[in-house]
Amino acid sequence: MPTSATTLPRHQHHIGGEQVAPESGEYIPSFNPATGRPWYEAAAGNAADVDRAVRAARTAFEDPRWRGLTATRRGRLLRRLGDLIGEHAEDLARCESLDNGKLLREMRGQLAVLPEYFYYFAGIADKVGGEVLHTMDPAIFNYTRREPVGVVGAITPWNSPLLLTSMKLAPALATGNTVVVKPSEHTSASLLRLVALLDEAGFPPGVVNVVTGHGRAAGAALVEHPGIDKVAFTGSTETGRAIAGTAGSRLARVSLELGGKSPNIVFSDADARSAAMGIVAGIFAAAGQTCVAGSRAFLHEDVHDEVLSLVTERAAAIRLGDPLDDATELGPLALREQLEKVRHYVGLGLQEGGKVVLGAAEPEGLGDGWYYQPTIFTETDNTMRICQEEIFGPVLTVMRFRDEEEAVALANATSYGLAAGVWTRDLARAHRMAAAIDAGTVWVNTYRAMSPLSPLGGFKQSGLGKENGPEVIHEYTRVKSVWINT
Ligand code: NAD
Repeated sequence: MPTSATTLPRHQHHIGGEQVAPESGEYIPSFNPATGRPWYEAAAGNAADVDRAVRAARTAFEDPRWRGLTATRRGRLLRRLGDLIGEHAEDLARCESLDNGKLLREMRGQLAVLPEYFYYFAGIADKVGGEVLHTMDPAIFNYTRREPVGVVGAITPWNSPLLLTSMKLAPALATGNTVVVKPSEHTSASLLRLVALLDEAGFPPGVVNVVTGHGRAAGAALVEHPGIDKVAFTGSTETGRAIAGTAGSRLARVSLELGGKSPNIVFSDADARSAAMGIVAGIFAAAGQTCVAGSRAFLHEDVHDEVLSLVTERAAAIRLGDPLDDATELGPLALREQLEKVRHYVGLGLQEGGKVVLGAAEPEGLGDGWYYQPTIFTETDNTMRICQEEIFGPVLTVMRFRDEEEAVALANATSYGLAAGVWTRDLARAHRMAAAIDAGTVWVNTYRAMSPLSPLGGFKQSGLGKENGPEVIHEYTRVKSVWINT
């Protein structure tokens, strides 16, 4: 691997099965959030690099080595890829932990299930098909074919590159598409390692290509490229809106997994301790940098003080430190900009009149890493900006409610609709809440459960379309109706 003048390793694009240097000759440093120091440089892709990758993906899409493969054989390749991910789990986990500061033990847990995404879609590959339909004329035979959409442009964020990209790759490949991925400019390393495993698994060259680089250059060029038939995006709502506009103007298909401001609602009949632990895990896992972070807690007035004190006690005991250390419970924020964003919102919360019961400061003694203490605001009003805007950091706002109707109104009073948690022992109430909450996922007496088998995707400003589960097949296929006069 070539190195830069500062002797950092340099990662190139991965196009048509080869490592390709950027046309611009420029590279972007990528930082280890635990130290604040760069550890490699990634190619700064531009429109010329994107064009090359899209052409490689189109050639691969038409190539009989891919197009001519039976669905069963595509499934076999996906299964082999799942096996290889399992064999390289430790390396992939460590790489992503260095890149975005996620706890190594959390990454090991993620890597233990990541192969399942490929196994699940390997199993689905040869079950995707069309239908024979009734007709109004007995002489006519009518059936549908479910075909791949073509070349998919996948754009992913920095908070969980491997998982979020796999959620796109597995169904796209199972249904016979080819893909160009543009990972976040902050975290390309783990994905480039994953793509090397795709080659090893036997996917023909060009079936998956990676162009690294900035969103405004490589990302925008991918969305604008006429050779991209579908854009699959995960990231912020703001970027998602811009992408939907561009893709929509040339009628390219688009699916969007966007931001959230998810509520965690605790009723007075709930198991207070489980609810409190669910709230802590819901917001402080990955330092709050997950799209489904349960950033707004609503506690029934009868249990408000008890649950708040349990949450605060557990959050205060969270151990901050090196993400590679197994004893660490909270690592750094992934980016310097993210730390600044958290500082900004904490300042705003104080100005707006929120009361801090925990944190609101950076920890001492952790060197130059981008750490922030778990932070809890009470006395907040749901209309405050810290209760309405996605902070994407370890900041929880806590509010009280009187009855079910008020809980639903508060939970739904947000432009987002990604996920929600409900804590109650009353089964009828659980069903009522699940129906009333305007979010794509509702968890009852648990939080953050996720699997390749179940659809994931937001309502309102949290997204468009679904990932995972059988439904995602519709996102990566198109239906053709065939009429035959017999
Ligand atoms: P972001 O929107 O800044 O960037 C996401 C990706 O889009 C990056 O690869 C970036 O380079 C690219 N990009 C930026 N501008 C672009 C443009 N104009 N055209 C094309 N591509 C462009 O998001 P982020 O800061 O990387 O990630 C955090 C956000 O992602 C949060 O809002 C979080 O909620 C969201 N997210 C959502 C889910 C979900 O499943 N709903 C999962 C994880 C993260």
